[in-house]
Amino acid sequence: SYPFDVEAIRADFPILDRKVGGDVETPGEGPEDDTPLCYLDNAATSHTPEQVVETISDYYRGYNANVHRGIHQLSQEASVAYEKAHDTVADFIGASGREEIVFTKNTTESENLVAYAWGLNELGPDDSVVMTEMEHHASLVTWQQIAKKTGAEVRYIRVDEQGYLDMDHAAELIDDSTAMVSVVHVSNTLGTVTPVAELADMAHDHGAYIFVDGAQSAPTRPVDVQEMDADFFAFSGHKMCGPTGIGTLYGKEAILEEMSPYLYGGDMIRRVTYDDSTWEDLPWKFEAGTPSIAQGIAFAAAVDYLEDIGMDAVQAHEELLAEYAYDRLAEFDDVTVYGPPGDDRGGLVAFNLDSVHAHDLSSIVNEYGVAIRAGDHCTQPLHDKLGAAASARASFYIYNTREEVDRLIDALEGARDLFA
Ligand code: PMP
Repeated sequence: SYPFDVEAIRADFPILDRKVGGDVETPGEGPEDDTPLCYLDNAATSHTPEQVVETISDYYRGYNANVHRGIHQLSQEASVAYEKAHDTVADFIGASGREEIVFTKNTTESENLVAYAWGLNELGPDDSVVMTEMEHHASLVTWQQIAKKTGAEVRYIRVDEQGYLDMDHAAELIDDSTAMVSVVHVSNTLGTVTPVAELADMAHDHGAYIFVDGAQSAPTRPVDVQEMDADFFAFSGHKMCGPTGIGTLYGKEAILEEMSPYLYGGDMIRRVTYDDSTWEDLPWKFEAGTPSIAQGIAFAAAVDYLEDIGMDAVQAHEELLAEYAYDRLAEFDDVTVYGPPGDDRGGLVAFNLDSVHAHDLSSIVNEYGVAIRAGDHCTQPLHDKLGAAASARASFYIYNTREEVDRLIDALEGARDLFA
């Protein structure tokens, strides 16, 4: 049985009742759509429950207004809701308060914020930035390019044959030159769970900061930034039942306080003269211009939705489906599954079927209504290391079932027969 009532959860997501297979020029179900959807692309983006959709429409129907500046009632209502959303997100990850929660567009923007606002100012030729071989491009490309601009050295902690991080190598690479350790918490390709608390200790022992990419962890397991002692932690609303266009950068208050702003403009200033400006308090110092107001408020509704289920239960469900999918895929002699064993990974499996290119595979299973991802999943260097140009990836969320994994397996058998 499942850790919670999956059918009741599914009822909150009308999109899951959709049929697919028809013309894609017009979005939404059309007359030619005749195959029930089986959505297994949650690591790319998750679906949005009614409660969150309603929060968005309540905002636009009832109290749409710009935040912070207004004296009028609608603006005050929007401001209170938007600011409170920061508190909800702070509680969700164990931050001490809204000062530590900057709303951004997504994980990518959170990475860039720190890389530009801190990295560009603080890094130099004597410094090193340590990442892992399984970083998403969001951190890999960002730090790589900031390192080029500043002369800092980039180092990558090895990922072993099984998909685990080589912690001896981490201990070798993180040294007194290291200023930043930027690591993915749950790999979106291998499903590996990184020992972030241990890496945080290593970083801090050498006076470095640690940035944790939580894009795949915050949606799928309990996160406590203080327990892991992360200096920065980033995640995206759209992978956890929230809308697109909203993400979070958590930063320790003392560090954010020291950092210069990333974007300049309205809303982030306190006093401006023709000669100079001073900055608003945290977190607004880092939220220049009109923010994503509806999305921010709806993000908090998504957090409430997940907390009602309970993050321990969400994690248990993810692990159950990942293990089941792993075991079912292991039945095939001609399937390679990447990453750690089925009982020790986040809720996703990337794999290749020997005879079929991942893109073809994904398009054939699409004929069965099964939505999976094919490509490098924004981890090109890791795919180079794996010796695969691309892989197929199934990723699970709270509304997925074992029967849907079975549908994937049936579709794979269909694909294999087609190419045999
Ligand atoms: N890091 C990881 C591990 C991810 O899986 C993703 C999304 N694929 C990102 C970063 C980037 O997230 P976003 O596209 O929302 O910025």
